[in-house]
Amino acid sequence: MTATSTKPKYEIKDLSLAATGRQRIEWAGREMPVLRQIRDRFAQEKPLAGIRLVACCHVTTETAHLAIALKAGGADAILIASNPLSTQDDVAASLVADHDIPVFAIKGEDNETYHRHVQIALDHRPNVIIDDGSDVVATLIQQRQHQIADIIGTTEETTTGIVRLKAMFRDGVLTFPAMNVNDADTKHFFDNRYGTGQSTLDGIIRATNLLLAGKTAVVAGYGWCGKGTALRARGMGANVIVTEIDPIRAIEAVMDGFRVMPMSEAAPEGDLFITVTGNKHVIRAEHFAAMKDGAIICNSGHFDIEIDLKSLGATATEVKQVRNFTQEYRMPNGKSVVVLGEGRLINLAAAEGHPSAVMDMSFANQALACEYLVKNKGSLEPGIHSIPTEVDREIARLKLQAMGINIDTLTAEQEEYINSWTAGT
Ligand code: NAD
Ligand code: SAH
Repeated sequence: MTATSTKPKYEIKDLSLAATGRQRIEWAGREMPVLRQIRDRFAQEKPLAGIRLVACCHVTTETAHLAIALKAGGADAILIASNPLSTQDDVAASLVADHDIPVFAIKGEDNETYHRHVQIALDHRPNVIIDDGSDVVATLIQQRQHQIADIIGTTEETTTGIVRLKAMFRDGVLTFPAMNVNDADTKHFFDNRYGTGQSTLDGIIRATNLLLAGKTAVVAGYGWCGKGTALRARGMGANVIVTEIDPIRAIEAVMDGFRVMPMSEAAPEGDLFITVTGNKHVIRAEHFAAMKDGAIICNSGHFDIEIDLKSLGATATEVKQVRNFTQEYRMPNGKSVVVLGEGRLINLAAAEGHPSAVMDMSFANQALACEYLVKNKGSLEPGIHSIPTEVDREIARLKLQAMGINIDTLTAEQEEYINSWTAGT
């Protein structure tokens, strides 16, 4: 459904889904006390007044709270999807109907529509961009150089987006400041690890109803997402194998008690494969051919290229939709492999993404990063900036407070001791 005057004000599935979206957004808000406090302050102080803002995020109940906070802060904000399969259509409807926030996102939109929405976002002539995977910034740099003068800065949500921004900076094309939300401790320690750990399994279970106990689960990548996924899969009784290319992370996985081996050795052992590397073709033709009949493969890392679906599609003799988000590929050797969520982030395709309680901290970082960019307009160097440590710690303090957990404070004696070099021996 689109609404038009001269330009469409939104492009969503169905405005009549708004009531369900409103209810679900309210529910998520119970677990987002830190962002709520920021929203209340923003409503008073209006730090984003007059700022045109584009948020390219998964359109979920949690993102709804971010968008509402940005609008409360005075931003003229529009929202587009950061993934063709992750949009919650009822949330998109409620944002348009109840909050007058333009949304351009439909679950299951094709690639052409996805990229058209990126163009619509840039037509908004943003001053600030919230990106998740760096698609808006990359398009801006490649196609809209004349708009760079409008840009105060961007914020980036995810690991792969930071990898791309670093490459842009290296190539001399990132000519404005970018806030690295992903690397804030209150983001990746919790979102990438516990968020991905839980929601990836949630997506797999919703798509397949698989019993994890007793299965062999192969987790490719032992970064923050991999650690969480392996930990939670073990917690549900799976025997977990980890694959890595980084020797340090491989040792970590070994000492955390996992078996570590190359994918070529893991392929015939696994019942379930989960990629979380941010890399390309981590599972490919030679691996599909070696897998057990009925092996299940999915991805929870950025983008749909961790699994080489092109080669799988080219060799398969038949592709059958066997459940929602579940396709069975029949191989020439007679065996089949099952791919979930078209190889896109399974936690957002088949489930609801991370739980609100972790997104509370991720999006508190996003809101404060936008405020920081605007406050420091003109004084930040082009390139990638960390979230200031005091902001990161304040988010953690507020989260603990909201959880009703107190911690110790340093005594004067301890403060002196840890700052001294003479008192140590
Ligand atoms: P990370 O950099 O901490 O970890 C990635 C790991 O993958 C590294 O240890 C790297 O050595 C390993 N790796 C790279 N190529 C590999 C290969 N061929 N085989 C095996 N291991 C390989 O990153 P992260 O924070 O864990 O994020 C991983 C991916 O997940 C990124 O693309 C990120 O954007 C995405 N992400 C997804 C979600 C989600 O909601 N599903 C949440 C956060 C991040
Ligand atoms: N555009 C890329 C982005 C990778 S998504 C892609 O679709 O492949 C990874 C990011 O999704 C994470 O960094 C996490 O912060 C975000 N995410 C996870 N659950 C979410 C939720 N419930 N709502 C909004 N964003 C979420």
